[in-house]
Amino acid sequence: MKSPRDQASAFRVRHGLGDAPIRDMFQVVEDFKGAFVLSRKFPASQEAFTVHDEESGMTIIAVGTSDNYERQRFSVAHELGHLESGRMSADVHSLPDFTSSKDETWAHDFARHLLLPLGAVEKYLTNLGRSPLNVTIESLSDLVRVFGVSPQVAMIQLRDSKWISKRDFEEWPKRLPSLTSRGLAMQFGWASEREGLVRASLSPRRPTRVVKAATTAYQRGEISLEALAQVCGVHDVTAFQLTLENSDIRPPATTEERSERGPEDLSDLYRASP
Ligand SMILES: [Zn+2]
Repeated sequence: MKSPRDQASAFRVRHGLGDAPIRDMFQVVEDFKGAFVLSRKFPASQEAFTVHDEESGMTIIAVGTSDNYERQRFSVAHELGHLESGRMSADVHSLPDFTSSKDETWAHDFARHLLLPLGAVEKYLTNLGRSPLNVTIESLSDLVRVFGVSPQVAMIQLRDSKWISKRDFEEWPKRLPSLTSRGLAMQFGWASEREGLVRASLSPRRPTRVVKAATTAYQRGEISLEALAQVCGVHDVTAFQLTLENSDIRPPATTEERSERGPEDLSDLYRASP
């Protein structure tokens, strides 16, 4: 089996991701692994789980909504690591996994290298005109902001790519006891940007393919507005209908049109649609 670093690098190469930041981990896993990815409110003790059905090949990854945007992304990347390693110890994998087995460490390392490759640290900081062993905590903040990782993940990658010394690696957390993404965002001017990302990671997300299929079914008159609202997790059905209307999404043939056509028309066929 490849090292987690090599496997993460192979994944990026295979899917043309280069060394660029990954904007949305959900999208990457949906598009490139064909998995259903969703987020919903979980009990505090649960972060994520993956269910894989060997027979149908269907995979569902569910993560908890969270005010920790970077951690939620990391959880999805961790679950992807298990899928990439092909060594999920059971059909259902749950995070946190307190067994801290070798597979867990592997999936964690995979997630770290996927979200922030060592090569990306090098390229990004060089482009900013910085040089190894000559970086400040602001560079750490830049990496956290641009690559959407926790300061801990960025620190490990900075150390392992030899951009900070082992001493800085140990000293920085002592100098800044609250070395968090939120703290860095406040300190270095990107708090409002991060707030938007946090709002998104706090909102439940449905698998894109499911929502798309339901929307198409609604447009074909196959499911009701209420059913679509339920799939999308929307409670205010009236406002939802208005939003759909404004996007030209509506079921075929309105009652008005049917009445205009008179009794001999075929509008009943629409109602008979499955
Ligand atoms: Zn795991």
